[in-house]
Amino acid sequence: MKQPPIIVIHGGAGTIAPDLREAALAGVAAAARRGQAMLAAGAGAVDVAVAAVRLLEDDPTFNAGRGACLTADGEVEVDAGIMRSRDRRSGALAGVRNLRDPINVARRVMEATRHSLLVGEGAESFARAQGLGAFGRHEVETAKAVERWRRAKAGEAAIDNRADTVGAVVLDAAGELCAAGSTGGVLLKLPGRVGDTPLVGAGFYADPELGACCCTGVGEAIMARVLAFTALREVAAAPADAQAIAERLCDACSAEHGGAAVGLILARPDGAVAIAHRSQHMSWGLAIGEGAVVAGLDLAARRLDLAGG
Ligand code: ASP
Repeated sequence: MKQPPIIVIHGGAGTIAPDLREAALAGVAAAARRGQAMLAAGAGAVDVAVAAVRLLEDDPTFNAGRGACLTADGEVEVDAGIMRSRDRRSGALAGVRNLRDPINVARRVMEATRHSLLVGEGAESFARAQGLGAFGRHEVETAKAVERWRRAKAGEAAIDNRADTVGAVVLDAAGELCAAGSTGGVLLKLPGRVGDTPLVGAGFYADPELGACCCTGVGEAIMARVLAFTALREVAAAPADAQAIAERLCDACSAEHGGAAVGLILARPDGAVAIAHRSQHMSWGLAIGEGAVVAGLDLAARRLDLAGG
């Protein structure tokens, strides 16, 4: 049976400060709406996932592109990754300084090179040679990120379990799937630290039979479980239990990493969807076919039966 198109968005697992909750909810809902409109007009999964992630990279509410968090040295180093199901091609970049639209560059790595991951200066040179990328501290720095860095440095605020990385999974009308994510990483990370977001299988994965998954939360916990691929494989064995399996995996992953924030979004070719997190919040948005866009700041208040599409 042909499935209606699906877009699922996440705006990061962790704790969302009270003054940012409204903006986070508006951001993920807007990204889901944008994706839904594109899908209805026949757009492909990659175009839709990139457009949704770009919207959130430009939104200073989120820790991606403009608004990315700062390293221990006060620099901005971003990571992003994208994968399409058709041929399991992926593209990613890691540790690139002061880049506002990393997902555009990750996409170009996927589509125009024989590689999957470029890092640091090499990735920047590639982007510039392709005429891509909005580079510059002024493109990424926000007062919010600088203030958070200052407070964390001064020991006035916790650095873990903050939420605002972004990601999308998409199933288009032709049955193609795409997973995409973009992040500034974790606040006060060591210069050069890379998390799960640009790592195939850990932070994101897309496969024609298994579906597409994108993770968020503390990268070190997610990498240990190769979470995106693991979730897709486990859900494939029991698609009707997608939501329960995703929740169990987030719980397990978090527990073995001292209660770290962990979350994921997932969509399968048969229409099964899961949105799960072990953290106080994870903003999310969802649109299936032409149905109403739904969005939330967590899944605790309203337990969704998302399995089965
Ligand atoms: N997963 C990202 C990282 O570890 C951060 C996040 O999702 O909040 O870099």
